[in-house]
This record gives sequence, C-alpha cells and structure tokens, in this order.
Amino acid sequence: MMYDIKIERTKTPKQKPDQNHLGFGQYFTDHMFIMDYTEGKGWHDARIVPYAPLELDPASMVFHYGQAIFEGLKAYKTKEGRILLFRPEKNMNRVNISNDRLCMPQIDVELGIHAIKTLVNVDKDWIPEAEGTSLYIRPFFIATDPFLGVKPSSTYKFIIILSPVGAYYAEGLNPVKIYVEDYYVRAVRGGIGFAKAAANYAASIKAQMDAKKKGYSQVLWLDGVERKYVEEVGTMNVFFKINGEVITPSLEGKSILPGVTRDSVIEMLKSWGMKVTERKISIDEVYDAHSNGTLEEVFGTGTAAVISPVGELNWKDNPIIINDGKIGVVSQKLYDELTGIQTGKIEDKFGWVTEVK
Ligand SMILES: *Cc1c(COP(=O)(O)O)cnc(C)c1O
Repeated sequence: MMYDIKIERTKTPKQKPDQNHLGFGQYFTDHMFIMDYTEGKGWHDARIVPYAPLELDPASMVFHYGQAIFEGLKAYKTKEGRILLFRPEKNMNRVNISNDRLCMPQIDVELGIHAIKTLVNVDKDWIPEAEGTSLYIRPFFIATDPFLGVKPSSTYKFIIILSPVGAYYAEGLNPVKIYVEDYYVRAVRGGIGFAKAAANYAASIKAQMDAKKKGYSQVLWLDGVERKYVEEVGTMNVFFKINGEVITPSLEGKSILPGVTRDSVIEMLKSWGMKVTERKISIDEVYDAHSNGTLEEVFGTGTAAVISPVGELNWKDNPIIINDGKIGVVSQKLYDELTGIQTGKIEDKFGWVTEVK
C-alpha cells in the first residue's frame, strides 16, 4: 500500500485517567505518530511508536527561530461504538497553508488523514465515552536542522499526539467574560495570523495573563493597525448576532485564523435560512448595537469548546452584559446541532464526519 506506517506497540500500557476528571490536554495516550522530512528525499519513515520524550539536538532550529505549526481536531465515540472525525481534510489542508507561510514542507492531505486514522485506531481504547468527552488530536510540525543561521530548515518532523479531554465546561455551556484588548495585538496584515503557528500564541500569552488578572477568561483581539476592527477571541473565531443578522469578521486581511468550526457554523446558519455576513465589524459598532438594544448574542467558535457564548465584553473599562449573561437561542442550537453531528447523534446532512475503521 502507498502509505506504509510501521507500528511498534508499547509493552507497558499506561493506566487510563478517570473519564470524569479529564480536563484539557493533561493526559496522553500510549502511542504517537512520527514522520521525518529531508530536503531532496521528501517525507519518509512514517511510524507509530510508544509515546515517549523526543531526543532533539539543542541547536534544532525550532528552538531558536520558531518554525513550528500545529493543528487541533477531535475523535468521538458514538453510542454504537463507531469512531468519528470531524472534517479532518480541512485541518490537513490548513497545515499546507500554515506550512507555506512558514517555509515548511507541504504534506499529502490523504497521508495526513491516514496517519491520524491509523494512530486513533491504535489508541482507540483511549477515546472516552462520557457525555461531552472526546479524544483531542494534536498534529504538529517542527524544524530540526541543528543550525543557528537564519534560513528555512532542511529537515522537519511531523508528529501526532492524542489526549483524552473532558467537556470544556464542567457545568455545560457557560457564558464567558471577555476582555477587549486595546494595547497588545495578536497579528497584523502581512504577518502570520492566518497560519496556525505556535508563534501566534507566544505573541498572545501576555495579554491573556493580564486579562485573567482582571477576572476575564480570554481576550477579544482588535486589528493590529487601528485597534478598531474585531478579529477573534483567544483560541476562537467570533460571531455577533445583531438585529437578527449574524456577523463575523471576514478573513480577507489574512490576520485571522480560518477556523473549521467557523466555516461549519456559517454553513449551518445558512442552511437554517439565517442571514450570515462576513465583513469588517468595528468594536464601536458592537457597542452601538448594545446601546440601541440590537446586540442579541455574541459567541466564539473553535474545536476545543465548539461554541462558547460570551456574557460580557469589557472595552476600555466599559463593561457590557450580553443577553443578560445567558446563553442565546442561536448559540445553544448551534452547539446542540454541531456536537450532535460530531458524536453521531444527529444525521450528518453536510457530509462532515468521517469514520475511523
Ligand atoms: C485553532 C484556532 C481557532 C479555531 O479553529 P478551529 O479550526 O475551529 O478549531 C481560532 N483562532 C485561533 C487563533 C486558533 O488557533
């Protein structure tokens, strides 16, 4: 077969964690996928090996100049025991967009999906079954040349690790408080904001910490030039329902991460006959809508939380409460339908789920 993945199974399987206290990204399964890239030779030596620390040269370029990108998706176990992935081809296509921006090598999308499926299958006993839980899949790519000059690396590793995760919110869909960041910026036009690059997170942690200190769970990023137009929230894309219309920032400035959940939400809302618009939206417009009573819902979208309702925004010490701090009707319906499709409880009319066999 075309993609031969060598599998070496662990001789010392780990104890599995309690499904009711998984949290997010704290436990890792028994195996990992690794593949090497060498310039001139391409990708080679696809293998699944026991989960273990990596040995890397301390001069490896990833440690010095940050050539690192990642992905995030989930595997779900249905009531009947089937294993489902949600739109994995979108994630693997996005790898190629991210890698292109960071001068890292392209991968074959089919190979990427095959690697994910094979690894998930090897560790399928790790997929939790409790309500709201799933197996988080973290593919990532790093530059490994032992070299301190600044240039693209000529060797890379493509690695996939798996982590059983709990419901993002212990008590269901709780609206979050978001701080509107008006000093720090996450990305600028011409930068790497549209790539799922590790460096975007390095740039954002400081604002995140400051917001936490003030009692907010995440930040809402504004554009990097005028601090005027809304971009996204921490690890999520953002949507506003104003006077019956759902608005989300457009991707054209290439400073926003094109989320798979964002794309799915737009398609789902349209299928319900709702008006959805991708365009620039300023923070003033959001505040004006709140003043005149037309700001109906605000929510974030991303793989980890799926839908995250926003109950409060605070811009320049002027907090506003959205929908009385309660979950909106559209946010709740999107959450129910999306998670229903992902977990096989609702028929997938969109052709989004792929079964792992
Ligand atoms: C991953 C990510 C998202 C959400 O993307 P999904 O594909 O929906 O998980 C949004 N913003 C940023 C900055 C991200 O890294």
